[in-house]
Amino acid sequence: MATQRHNILKSVCLGECQSKDLPSELDLSSISTGMNRLWQGSIRNIRHGLVTEFGATLVWQRGRLRSTNVVQGESNTVALKPQIHRGQKFVGTFHTHPYKQGWLGIAFSGEDFATAINLRENVSVVHAGNKIAALIRTEISSHSVDSNKIVDLANELVWRYSNEKTPFAEAVQKMNIDLCVAYGLAYYLGKTDGRLTLRHKP
Ligand SMILES: [Zn+2]
Repeated sequence: MATQRHNILKSVCLGECQSKDLPSELDLSSISTGMNRLWQGSIRNIRHGLVTEFGATLVWQRGRLRSTNVVQGESNTVALKPQIHRGQKFVGTFHTHPYKQGWLGIAFSGEDFATAINLRENVSVVHAGNKIAALIRTEISSHSVDSNKIVDLANELVWRYSNEKTPFAEAVQKMNIDLCVAYGLAYYLGKTDGRLTLRHKP
């Protein structure tokens, strides 16, 4: 059973998993310690009103998922430039979403979707403080997207979903699912231990 789970994770990471075979749970715990460390780094100066996004490249190496090539960004962005070395296979990217206001649980932005699609990421992961979300590419997923178009669409959806009863984080969640539907991606969400649950399957 453990071997089967490992094989499914490998096929997801290498972009070989068909939509119909997507698992109901995705175990990213092999990178959770590193992800949580980068989250702590992102908010270490939050009491001075400063936050910093961090990013990393996700690779498959020696039979497991690893995060490498950590890059430091700005308060609300990080340039994700995946680097692959010998013996590594490209999986995708990871980055953090800290907010100086202390907001938690803000998942992918429209720009993040554009990056994930255009870099052909098999797995794109965001750490939002109290939650981790992942976009998974399948055989149905779009191969490229106009980033201005997807950013405009994301903003419009968040604006439409936001109201007194719907917190910003929840509006962003709804936008994430809508964009997954539109661009043929799978969506997983879970806690910071790296154990995620399938929320949308294309
Ligand atoms: Zn982002």
